[in-house]
Amino acid sequence: MSKSIAIDGPAGAGKSTIARMVAKELGFIYVDTGAMYRAMALYMIKNNVEPSDSEKISKTCTDADITIRHENGEQVVFLNGENVNGLIRTEEVGQMASASSVNGDVRKKLVELQQKLAATTDVVMDGRDIGTVVLPGADLKIYLTASSGVRAKRRYDELTAKGQECDLDVIEKDIIERDDRDMHREISPLRQADDAVYLDSSDMTVEDVKERILQLFSR
Ligand code: C5P
Repeated sequence: MSKSIAIDGPAGAGKSTIARMVAKELGFIYVDTGAMYRAMALYMIKNNVEPSDSEKISKTCTDADITIRHENGEQVVFLNGENVNGLIRTEEVGQMASASSVNGDVRKKLVELQQKLAATTDVVMDGRDIGTVVLPGADLKIYLTASSGVRAKRRYDELTAKGQECDLDVIEKDIIERDDRDMHREISPLRQADDAVYLDSSDMTVEDVKERILQLFSR
């Protein structure tokens, strides 16, 4: 039986940084499910689909072939055969991902892909519904969060480091809006699984969080 660690939480909580570190330490594969929703969102943007047009989203998502591969420990996402890693980390794609991930057909397609991956490989998987829907039997579930101010500052630093111009207040407003949509959608809303460990990383370093998760996993 393959092993799995599920890490859920709101945008900018540090899930991907932590999940990547934990996976490396344990020799597991890191699966970033947000990147799959972002690749799907990119496809919607490319096809001029309006975020509110759920019928068109359902129809369009059937033509999007999303696959992932791991190269040098990094996840690479392919959209209809094209490596889209460099195109999905923008606020525009993040906002579209938040809107299109509300759609049941989009979720069904991506959840199947995620479950298939975890069935055969030891994974650390991060997202919004991993502990509650994708891997309800995960060996360890973490709900990782931080205050919206801290999360906005982290995202701001990440984007400015990449040379993208941005405004801290706008980012915080977007984060709060995105959390609200993720937490209140009908299908698979973001919530802490009953058996998940709650970790607030506002005042913790990434090393602290990593160590805490490794400790919990080895129990
Ligand atoms: O984590 P990231 O910010 O890359 O995710 C982008 C969006 O994809 C989230 O705001 C959320 O709406 C959606 N998502 C989801 N379920 C997941 C992962 C991401 O709905 N498992």
